[in-house]
Amino acid sequence: MISNISEKIGPARKPHRCEECGRTIPKGEVYLRQVNADGSDIWTFKAHTDCAALGVAYRTKHRLWDEYDWLPMYELADDDHLLGQWRGHYPHAVCRLEFNKS
Ligand SMILES: [Zn+2]
Repeated sequence: MISNISEKIGPARKPHRCEECGRTIPKGEVYLRQVNADGSDIWTFKAHTDCAALGVAYRTKHRLWDEYDWLPMYELADDDHLLGQWRGHYPHAVCRLEFNKS
């Protein structure tokens, strides 16, 4: 079972890669940093805050919470129509995902 050890939202001290959209989180930008554990496995999840929120909303709506088959948003949201539904709620996150495809 996955458990969340710590979670914080704050400015990046150095650039990171967003694990949802795959794009860079520049130094100084506020981002989500989450440390998770599953038994003896521990990993850090880093994402733009709105990408993380879109990921939660998207997976909840489409019931994509299989912990053994987790895919980042840039792989999940490859359907233009599906992504378009979220534009009004998470405009920047949707833009980042679309930018990857162009
Ligand atoms: Zn992102």
